[in-house]
Amino acid sequence: MDLPKIDLEFLTEDERLRELCRRYWRRDGSRWVEAPSHIAQELGIGGSELPARLAEYSTAHLRGVTCSSCSRELTFSKRSNARPYLLPDPPPRPTPPAECEACIDARQAEAEKRARDKVEARYEVSKFDPTDPYGGGVREVLFFLALHALGSTDDDPTRIQSIHSLKVPLTPAGRLNLSLANVLFEQGLIVPDPASPLDAFFWESDEPTQFYVDKVSWVVPGPPNEIPAVLRILRDRLRDARLNVPELEHVWHEIAAAELHEFLAFSLDVRGLPCPEGERITQVINMALRHFPVAHLFRAAWGAVPKTEKWEEERGLELSPESLANGALTFFENSVNTAVERGWHVQPGFRNPRCPQSMVSKMLSQAVAGDDEAIFTLGLEGALALDWSPSEPQATVPEELDGQPDPPS
Ligand SMILES: [Zn+2]
Repeated sequence: MDLPKIDLEFLTEDERLRELCRRYWRRDGSRWVEAPSHIAQELGIGGSELPARLAEYSTAHLRGVTCSSCSRELTFSKRSNARPYLLPDPPPRPTPPAECEACIDARQAEAEKRARDKVEARYEVSKFDPTDPYGGGVREVLFFLALHALGSTDDDPTRIQSIHSLKVPLTPAGRLNLSLANVLFEQGLIVPDPASPLDAFFWESDEPTQFYVDKVSWVVPGPPNEIPAVLRILRDRLRDARLNVPELEHVWHEIAAAELHEFLAFSLDVRGLPCPEGERITQVINMALRHFPVAHLFRAAWGAVPKTEKWEEERGLELSPESLANGALTFFENSVNTAVERGWHVQPGFRNPRCPQSMVSKMLSQAVAGDDEAIFTLGLEGALALDWSPSEPQATVPEELDGQPDPPS
């Protein structure tokens, strides 16, 4: 059988542009004659922009091939879409039923609408109980307020953008973001937004059966006009966290340990070393946090890697990256122990712009001491001992990548 012919219907009078369209669609048997990049170059555009640009100048009709849905003659803007109908006879693979681009788009839009209807039915917000501001402890309250401050707008306090799209870190560690979002969902403080992108849901046989915690956007269930009052109650509860030190200490420790863990990993990573895994690093972090504020431990962590490298060099050793990283952890542990034994006054370190303060850390410090970094530089005990009495704490969004220069090593 003869391959279908391509007829060009021109939309421009410009002979040069018409010639470019002819060159794009010219074939020799079943092969394209010219690389699209040549033609794109003459127009001064990128190769990926070419089909859309040429479609402004001409429409390519496939003579004798009609759409199986609407019976119109097929037209194409892209070679790749036309290719199945231009293959030599017999075709090397089954040719799909001919369908025009408009019908393909319509079919996709229809499929998307069906999927959206399913998501809306399954995750209908009214199925979930409204937010109970009195449920949950300090941890949930802090995490909810931090997520809300970062992810919602003044225009619509009921909607929160996805964790994936936040510009400022919510917590010090990615895994903590996910576990806290799960906790907030289980507490009923947030529910998945049925308007989230369809790929934020997990599909099984065309049914949305689960959602991706980092990809969905969220809704605060309950009447929108009640949200400001709920937020006020939660802020009061966070401010009162100072009165319940054991619970506060628990929350602080989780955040401080994650901050130190991330900074240790960062200090190793900038020198190409992996972060040690397992129980030991947790034990070292817990021990260190019993004695010093996080800022002071940042300095010790930052200094541990070059000290280990120097120690290796002086002995003429060539350790594996894993051994070197474990050595750095030991140097860090020893420097903390030595400082404790000898009662040294340790200088605080700084945050690095690539390891910026997270929103939960900032809000907790604000609630306890009225200062963004009091807990980081003074520790929880030091921050609680400050002569400061809370009024209405104000949650502010930290500036993107707000940080200090690298500390001297
Ligand atoms: Zn059609």
